[in-house]
Amino acid sequence: MRGGMAARLLWLYAIGLQASSVWTAHEYGEVSIGALLTMTEPEQSLVEVALKQAVLAVNTNGGNRSTSLSLQLERLLVEEDTFVASKRVCRLFGLGVVAIFGPHSETMASHVLSMCDHKSVPVLETRWNYGARREPLSINLHPHPGTLSKALSDIIRSSGWQSFTVIYEDNQSLMNVQEVLKLTLVDDSIKINLQQLPVKDYRTADYRHILRRMRDEGEVNFVVDCRTDKVLKFLKDAQMVGMIIKKYSYFITSLDLQTLRLDDFRYSGSNITGVRLLDPLSPHVGRTLVEWQRLELERGGPRLELSNRQLTTGAALTYDAVTLLAHAIDELQGPLPLETVSLDCGSDAIWPHGESLINYMKLVKFDGLTGPVEFDTDGLRKSFSLDVIQLQEQDLVKIGSWSSAGSEMVPIKLPELQTAQPNRTIVVTTVMKKPYTMLKPSSTLRRGNDRFEGICVDLMDKLAEAHNFNYTLIVNRAGTAGKPDPVTGRWNGMIGDLLENRAHLAVADLTITGSRGKAINFTTQWMSLGISLVYTKPMKQPPSLFSFLSPFSLEVWAYMGMAMFGVSFLMFVLARFSPYEWENPHPCNDDPDELENVLNIRNSFWFSIGSLMQQGSDIAPKAMSTRMIAGIWWGFTLIMISSYTANLAAFLTIETRYSPIESADDLVKPRNKDIKYGLFAGGSTADFFRKSKVHPYNKMWDVMNKTKGVFRSDDEEGIEAVIKSNGKYAYFMESSSLEYYVARRCSLTQVGGLLDNKGYGIGVADHSPVQASELSETIIKLQEEGMLAQLKNRWWKGETGGVNCDAKKKKGVKPLSLKNVGGVFVCLIFGLSVATLVTAVEFLLEAYRNSRDEGVPFAAEVVRELRFVFRFRGNTKPVKRPVTSAGEAEDVFIPFSTDSSLQYAPAGFGFPGRDPLT
Ligand code: GLU
Repeated sequence: MRGGMAARLLWLYAIGLQASSVWTAHEYGEVSIGALLTMTEPEQSLVEVALKQAVLAVNTNGGNRSTSLSLQLERLLVEEDTFVASKRVCRLFGLGVVAIFGPHSETMASHVLSMCDHKSVPVLETRWNYGARREPLSINLHPHPGTLSKALSDIIRSSGWQSFTVIYEDNQSLMNVQEVLKLTLVDDSIKINLQQLPVKDYRTADYRHILRRMRDEGEVNFVVDCRTDKVLKFLKDAQMVGMIIKKYSYFITSLDLQTLRLDDFRYSGSNITGVRLLDPLSPHVGRTLVEWQRLELERGGPRLELSNRQLTTGAALTYDAVTLLAHAIDELQGPLPLETVSLDCGSDAIWPHGESLINYMKLVKFDGLTGPVEFDTDGLRKSFSLDVIQLQEQDLVKIGSWSSAGSEMVPIKLPELQTAQPNRTIVVTTVMKKPYTMLKPSSTLRRGNDRFEGICVDLMDKLAEAHNFNYTLIVNRAGTAGKPDPVTGRWNGMIGDLLENRAHLAVADLTITGSRGKAINFTTQWMSLGISLVYTKPMKQPPSLFSFLSPFSLEVWAYMGMAMFGVSFLMFVLARFSPYEWENPHPCNDDPDELENVLNIRNSFWFSIGSLMQQGSDIAPKAMSTRMIAGIWWGFTLIMISSYTANLAAFLTIETRYSPIESADDLVKPRNKDIKYGLFAGGSTADFFRKSKVHPYNKMWDVMNKTKGVFRSDDEEGIEAVIKSNGKYAYFMESSSLEYYVARRCSLTQVGGLLDNKGYGIGVADHSPVQASELSETIIKLQEEGMLAQLKNRWWKGETGGVNCDAKKKKGVKPLSLKNVGGVFVCLIFGLSVATLVTAVEFLLEAYRNSRDEGVPFAAEVVRELRFVFRFRGNTKPVKRPVTSAGEAEDVFIPFSTDSSLQYAPAGFGFPGRDPLT
């Protein structure tokens, strides 16, 4: 025991002795590291921040590792001058550094590497380095460009491009895409063109002419390999020449695509895809940045203005490199401090622990900002993975990943798909369509699933709650359910997402069909529907001028006329028969010479017209028989007039409407050949018509194919087309969506019934951790509870803008317009005109008679009578007498009397023969 203690003291002494002579003494665990910075701004500042923060984190975060360690960072800037660089490296050697970071430039790196190799000081690199030969004392955290190139080639291959142009900048970028260029060897149907960009500063470079030329050659797919600072300029130039539209796709190979502001291109529809090593939104990155802020504030430093989107891959690799070194030193030094040595460039002395340290570094494994950090024996990074990201309206969204497990290449897969477990995250693909899945009005201020709303989102929430999973909604860019490629058989759309492991579930207005059912699994249907036709509502008929005749049919009018004639005539005949109708014309004369019958033919007609018109007349039948006729006639007219009045009220207030099509079948009728019809081209409705062998649907499909511009790219477009067409276009769509639109567009209506019966199901991928049968059970339960009906009500009606179009119509009776009663006025005017004409005839006839009787000229008589008429005074006028033998006419004035006995006394023209006073 005593001996052991002595030996230990001796050993410590020896160490102390050595330290005082050759070895630099540090406090326990204090180690110097050097950094040679050769980058340009802003990358350099970011790398410096990362270095500083990494050292701070190592020095304060001893708890995470087994030993405490204090790193001292010596950072030196070097220009592109090897002589200066050598001097700087020698200075670092003199300080006894245990490792050197950088430099970044290719020429400087090889020089520094050979110096460090000579002195056995490890070098940690984070730069792009294609070199096949590694310095034994170096380790590089940047994935090897050869592996990266393989990843790019795999991803591009999985995108199915058959022709594309590789845009490169220099030799380095050609090496980046080397494996991509080899794709033509694997598949000789792939066509690849090469285009070099001018090697100029991006601020002065102009790529427009190159882009224009490629556009004119018809190229639509591009792989762009250039420095990150040029990418934005390239895309802006492409936008200027009209190449940032739906048709064009760009694959950007820069690992820092996420640091660029791509807001200008988000809504362009153009497909901009890239890869990243660093997920700026990962919890690890988030925590690290918070820690950086905290450490900086604890030191009393300024607030670190660095967002996770600004963190570059280079800075993240540098941070991981320092962490790697700290782990390796921990392993190497054990309980005793690491010996460091001040080396002189002029001497042959080396640092004895260099090789051990590099070997420990190759053995270390940890989760860094850039994913799992692990090396092979050559010091090359292994088992790293890349996120495939795509610019969508909301942001850059991860659409898949590529991972290298050793030398094994795993095709594009979502990591979540490989590790789905209880309390799992399920990826759900969907399409944006009202009211199934929609962006909330404030979606730009929200993140994740919170950006979306709609019946599918509510349904997913219910399913997730029932089955205890979290889900992430991703939006399929094609916006369709999907169909197989006729050549390759590969499905696109949401079904493609399920089959190619981009999602577990597909929730949308996804119709269950036989062919889809063969490719993926479906749950039971959560909504039932069928194909139906949407068309403009029947048009209003303008009221006809003689609409007052409408209450009775022509037949009834005719029979009524005939009845009136019959009754009048019968009355006249029966009155002649009946003795009671013959009366003494002069009641004062008890013994008259003759009897008079008042019901002559004229009076009979006048009587029946008066009754029909509900006016009555002075003529009254006296005999039993004639009174019976009168009674029956009055009863008849009472019923007829009441019926007329009631029916007229209905006719005048109810609008008559007319639609040329009452059902889908009417579309193929020759009279409707002017009405075009169409449907959404990429869905099951089109499939129904395409496959149908039943008349008239097969005929309709032929007609649609032959007619230009009838297919639509979505239902909303179809609905707009129907509204604008003014009755010249009808649109086939699913009844569920149709109901949604007709509750919002009151000028539209569903025509006819459903052409088929089907339902929407949830598509389930084979690899989904939650099975279709489990989801079906929950769907049935939700159906039974009335929850699905409630969800439908919520999104189709009420609060979400649906209205009852019929209820919107004004209630109550509309006042009749002149259009409704115009005909009655016409008849009145006609009657008045005829009456005026008859009066004129009577007037002239009487004037003629008078002029003849009085022997005055006809014109003079007319003028005299006209004067009398237009004097508008006096109710009496003299009775005209025929000219006497003396040739003079006598004027007799008879006072106007109401005495009935004087009813034949004329108050105007007198017919001399009938004048009782003559
Ligand atoms: N629900 C249809 C489908 O799943 C899309 C709409 C349609 O074809 O009318 O394809």
